[in-house]
Amino acid sequence: MRRLLQVIKNFSLWDLLVGLGLTGRYFFKRKVTVQYPEEKTPMSPRFRGIHALRRYANGEERCIACKLCEAVCPALAITIEAEPREDGSRRTTLYDIDLFKCVYCGLCEEACPVDAVVLTRNHDYHFEKRGENILTKEKLLAIGDKYEAQIAADRAEDAEYR
Ligand code: SF4
Ligand code: SF4
Repeated sequence: MRRLLQVIKNFSLWDLLVGLGLTGRYFFKRKVTVQYPEEKTPMSPRFRGIHALRRYANGEERCIACKLCEAVCPALAITIEAEPREDGSRRTTLYDIDLFKCVYCGLCEEACPVDAVVLTRNHDYHFEKRGENILTKEKLLAIGDKYEAQIAADRAEDAEYR
Protein backbone atom coordinates (compact mmCIF):
# COMPACT_ATOMS: atom_id res chain seq x y z
CA MET A 1 0.00 0.00 0.00
CA ARG A 2 2.80 2.40 0.94
CA ARG A 3 4.54 1.59 -2.28
CA LEU A 4 1.38 2.33 -4.28
CA LEU A 5 0.98 5.68 -2.52
CA GLN A 6 4.59 6.54 -3.32
CA VAL A 7 4.06 5.73 -6.99
CA ILE A 8 0.92 7.93 -7.10
CA LYS A 9 2.84 10.74 -5.39
CA ASN A 10 5.68 10.44 -7.87
CA PHE A 11 3.42 10.54 -10.90
CA SER A 12 1.26 13.40 -9.62
CA LEU A 13 4.39 15.51 -8.81
CA TRP A 14 3.08 15.82 -5.26
CA ASP A 15 6.30 17.25 -3.78
CA LEU A 16 6.42 19.92 -6.49
CA LEU A 17 2.82 20.90 -5.75
CA VAL A 18 3.57 21.14 -2.02
CA GLY A 19 6.55 23.41 -2.82
CA LEU A 20 4.47 25.59 -5.13
CA GLY A 21 1.76 25.80 -2.44
CA LEU A 22 4.31 27.13 0.03
CA THR A 23 5.58 29.66 -2.52
CA GLY A 24 2.01 30.74 -3.23
CA ARG A 25 1.31 31.20 0.49
CA TYR A 26 4.16 33.73 0.84
CA PHE A 27 3.70 35.36 -2.58
CA PHE A 28 1.16 37.93 -1.39
CA LYS A 29 2.53 38.41 2.13
CA ARG A 30 4.54 41.49 3.15
CA LYS A 31 8.09 41.11 1.86
CA VAL A 32 10.84 40.89 4.48
CA THR A 33 13.78 40.80 2.07
CA VAL A 34 15.41 43.92 0.57
CA GLN A 35 17.31 44.58 -2.65
CA TYR A 36 20.75 45.08 -1.13
CA PRO A 37 22.80 47.21 -1.76
CA GLU A 38 20.24 49.59 -3.31
CA GLU A 39 17.97 49.09 -0.28
CA LYS A 40 19.27 48.82 3.27
CA THR A 41 17.68 47.70 6.51
CA PRO A 42 17.69 50.01 9.57
CA MET A 43 20.95 49.88 11.50
CA SER A 44 21.75 50.56 15.15
CA PRO A 45 24.05 53.51 15.94
CA ARG A 46 26.02 50.95 17.96
CA PHE A 47 26.67 48.73 14.93
CA ARG A 48 30.25 47.46 14.96
CA GLY A 49 31.69 47.59 11.45
CA ILE A 50 35.10 48.63 10.18
CA HIS A 51 37.29 50.66 12.55
CA ALA A 52 38.31 54.30 12.25
CA LEU A 53 40.53 56.77 14.05
CA ARG A 54 38.94 60.16 14.62
CA ARG A 55 40.32 63.70 14.63
CA TYR A 56 39.21 66.83 16.47
CA ALA A 57 37.57 69.61 14.46
CA ASN A 58 40.94 71.39 14.11
CA GLY A 59 42.37 68.35 12.33
CA GLU A 60 44.49 67.11 15.25
CA GLU A 61 44.26 63.36 15.77
CA ARG A 62 42.47 62.38 18.97
CA CYS A 63 44.60 59.38 19.85
CA ILE A 64 47.08 60.09 22.66
CA ALA A 65 48.84 56.74 22.41
CA CYS A 66 47.76 55.56 25.87
CA LYS A 67 47.58 51.98 24.52
CA LEU A 68 44.46 51.10 26.51
CA CYS A 69 42.83 49.75 23.36
CA GLU A 70 45.85 47.55 22.67
CA ALA A 71 45.81 46.24 26.26
CA VAL A 72 42.08 45.49 26.32
CA CYS A 73 41.85 43.83 22.91
CA PRO A 74 41.10 40.12 23.57
CA ALA A 75 42.28 39.11 20.09
CA LEU A 76 45.63 40.94 20.25
CA ALA A 77 44.61 42.59 16.99
CA ILE A 78 45.97 46.07 17.77
CA THR A 79 49.67 47.00 17.56
CA ILE A 80 50.79 50.43 18.68
CA GLU A 81 54.16 52.16 18.76
CA ALA A 82 54.51 55.67 20.11
CA GLU A 83 56.94 58.43 20.90
CA PRO A 84 56.68 62.05 22.07
CA ARG A 85 56.51 64.82 19.50
CA GLU A 86 58.74 67.89 19.57
CA ASP A 87 56.01 69.79 21.42
CA GLY A 88 55.98 67.09 24.12
CA SER A 89 52.60 65.60 23.18
CA ARG A 90 52.46 61.85 22.81
CA ARG A 91 51.25 60.36 19.55
CA THR A 92 51.40 57.00 17.82
CA THR A 93 54.04 56.34 15.19
CA LEU A 94 52.37 53.05 14.31
CA TYR A 95 48.78 51.98 14.83
CA ASP A 96 47.76 48.74 13.11
CA ILE A 97 44.58 46.70 13.45
CA ASP A 98 44.61 43.18 12.00
CA LEU A 99 41.08 42.56 10.78
CA PHE A 100 41.74 38.83 10.46
CA LYS A 101 42.24 38.69 14.24
CA CYS A 102 39.55 41.20 15.25
CA VAL A 103 36.33 39.77 16.64
CA TYR A 104 34.47 43.12 16.51
CA CYS A 105 33.78 43.09 20.23
CA GLY A 106 34.04 46.88 20.52
CA LEU A 107 36.18 46.78 23.68
CA CYS A 108 38.82 49.05 22.09
CA GLU A 109 36.13 51.64 21.47
CA GLU A 110 34.83 51.32 25.03
CA ALA A 111 38.31 51.64 26.54
CA CYS A 112 39.40 54.72 24.62
CA PRO A 113 39.37 57.78 26.92
CA VAL A 114 39.29 60.30 24.06
CA ASP A 115 36.85 58.65 21.67
CA ALA A 116 39.61 58.14 19.10
CA VAL A 117 39.18 54.56 17.93
CA VAL A 118 35.62 53.70 16.93
CA LEU A 119 33.82 51.01 15.01
CA THR A 120 31.83 52.58 12.21
CA ARG A 121 28.60 51.29 10.73
CA ASN A 122 30.40 50.55 7.43
CA HIS A 123 30.28 46.77 6.99
CA ASP A 124 30.46 46.21 3.24
CA TYR A 125 34.20 46.06 2.69
CA HIS A 126 36.45 43.33 1.33
CA PHE A 127 40.10 42.49 0.68
CA GLU A 128 41.66 41.49 -2.62
CA LYS A 129 45.36 41.30 -1.81
CA ARG A 130 47.47 39.82 0.94
CA GLY A 131 48.14 42.39 3.64
CA GLU A 132 44.99 44.44 3.07
CA ASN A 133 43.62 42.98 6.30
CA ILE A 134 46.00 45.26 8.19
CA LEU A 135 44.42 48.65 8.78
CA THR A 136 47.28 51.09 9.19
CA LYS A 137 47.08 54.41 11.01
CA GLU A 138 46.82 56.25 7.67
CA LYS A 139 43.95 54.03 6.52
CA LEU A 140 42.16 54.33 9.88
CA LEU A 141 42.44 58.13 9.85
CA ALA A 142 41.20 58.22 6.25
CA ILE A 143 38.14 56.13 7.22
CA GLY A 144 37.58 58.46 10.18
CA ASP A 145 37.76 61.53 7.93
CA LYS A 146 35.36 59.98 5.43
CA TYR A 147 32.72 58.92 7.95
CA GLU A 148 33.16 61.60 10.65
CA ALA A 149 29.70 63.11 10.15
CA GLN A 150 28.06 59.68 10.47
CA ILE A 151 30.24 58.70 13.43
CA ALA A 152 29.43 61.93 15.31
CA ALA A 153 25.71 61.54 14.60
CA ASP A 154 25.73 57.90 15.76
CA ARG A 155 27.49 58.76 19.01
CA ALA A 156 25.10 61.61 19.72
CA GLU A 157 22.13 59.28 19.12
CA ASP A 158 23.69 56.56 21.25
CA ALA A 159 24.31 59.03 24.12
CA GLU A 160 20.56 59.75 24.26
CA TYR A 161 19.89 56.13 25.23
CA ARG A 162 22.60 55.82 27.88
S1 SF4 B 1 36.85 45.28 18.22
FE1 SF4 B 1 37.61 43.93 19.88
S2 SF4 B 1 38.87 42.42 18.83
FE2 SF4 B 1 38.59 44.11 17.39
S3 SF4 B 1 40.35 45.43 17.66
FE3 SF4 B 1 38.72 46.21 19.03
S4 SF4 B 1 39.07 45.19 21.01
FE4 SF4 B 1 40.25 44.06 19.44
S1 SF4 C 1 42.93 54.86 20.33
FE1 SF4 C 1 42.32 55.61 22.36
S2 SF4 C 1 42.74 53.88 23.76
FE2 SF4 C 1 43.88 53.48 21.85
S3 SF4 C 1 45.92 54.36 22.22
FE3 SF4 C 1 44.69 55.93 21.21
S4 SF4 C 1 43.83 57.14 22.88
FE4 SF4 C 1 44.53 55.23 23.79
